[in-house]
Amino acid sequence: MISVDEAQQIVLSAVEPMPMERIGLDRALGRTLAEPIQSPMDHPPWDASAMDGYAVRCEDLRTASRERPCRLEVVETVLAGQMPQCKIGPGEACRIMTGAPIPAGANAVVMIEATRQVGHGVDVLEPVEMGEDIRYRGEALRLGEKILDPGIRIRPAEIGLLASIGKPLVSVFQRPRVAILATGDELADLDALRGSNQIYNSNGYALAAQVEEAGGLPVNLGIAKDDPEALRQKLRDALNADLVVVAGGVSVGDADRVREVSTALGADMRLWKVAMKPGHPLAFGLIAGRPMFGLPGNPVSAMVTFEQFVRPSLLRAMGRCDIFRPTLSATLSETLHKKPGRRHFVRAVISWQGGGYAARSTGDQGSGILKSMVAANGLMILPEAVSHIPAGEHVAVQLLSDIPTLTAPPACHL
Ligand code: AMP
Ligand code: MG
Repeated sequence: MISVDEAQQIVLSAVEPMPMERIGLDRALGRTLAEPIQSPMDHPPWDASAMDGYAVRCEDLRTASRERPCRLEVVETVLAGQMPQCKIGPGEACRIMTGAPIPAGANAVVMIEATRQVGHGVDVLEPVEMGEDIRYRGEALRLGEKILDPGIRIRPAEIGLLASIGKPLVSVFQRPRVAILATGDELADLDALRGSNQIYNSNGYALAAQVEEAGGLPVNLGIAKDDPEALRQKLRDALNADLVVVAGGVSVGDADRVREVSTALGADMRLWKVAMKPGHPLAFGLIAGRPMFGLPGNPVSAMVTFEQFVRPSLLRAMGRCDIFRPTLSATLSETLHKKPGRRHFVRAVISWQGGGYAARSTGDQGSGILKSMVAANGLMILPEAVSHIPAGEHVAVQLLSDIPTLTAPPACHL
């Protein structure tokens, strides 16, 4: 049987990045940058005041104090958006607002709070240092400086930076469309009346949400019966998408038809089983050139295998450089046992416990118990070879949501 690492290699080496598209910066949040960005300008474009105050020559104010202020003549007022006209000479100052260009001759700004206005002049109550409260030209960005690399996820900060260099359009990787197909005679959709022999199709919805969370575009194809013809038809529909995810029917049961149908459709299947728990039956191959995943039907197994294989593949297709969830080391709060042989992914609660992270399992790890996924903010990764991990040992934990905070979250009473 193939290990998780080998399977990840097989899967990821078959996934190509999507083509690029140019979109408006206002639509780029969460997308992956597809071009390197250099600054086309210095920013700020000129030496600018960092304060509301007076542009001065610091040498005029060496002796300034509250008791013996230095009086300067105010020769001009410059607001942000205006250009100064005067040159500041000895004994002169320019009243200046934050963001306005520093006039020639001045070498510091003294803030308004350290001055007193007197007629057409100003009394300065403190000395200033050379360069104080001046934002120098190019201090934030230099002309030609490399500021962003392709492959990063565009966050609000990147949007702001791109706007600050006046870039209205940005090249990003296209979002992959991901067809999601649930299989099983026992499945009812949410808008249908559930028969007494049926359960609701939860995988179609959870997987679509996982695709969306990762940045892909889910295309929910609904349910295929465990019937080769029905499955063939739905799989053909799936070929309109860039990636295909089938859940259920990939194992060796009498009703598991994915193997026979995908092979008959000419799919080049590269794996069927991975040494992990949950998620033992797991298929991957290329169907009409598209990556196709066959995930186990058990709802937790489907979500956990999505995390390990589909999510990194989606991020790679989206051109992202960082395709794996962050992992951290946590102290195990309880002793865990497992059979050696497979890598276990244990649904876990990770919390900060004064000086380090602690991890405990969410309890019953049945692969149909979605409540335990809801309770989890991470997955403990228990190595293949081990059978017994005592409380107090360190375990690797893959984070499924934001990094656990240092303090407990506030109670929420709605
Ligand atoms: P399978 O992989 O098809 O053998 O399914 C394994 C288990 O997962 C069975 O108990 C199925 O009823 C259940 N299952 C399969 N597909 C879904 C689904 N879309 N939603 C909820 N449970 C499912
Ligand atoms: Mg089934």
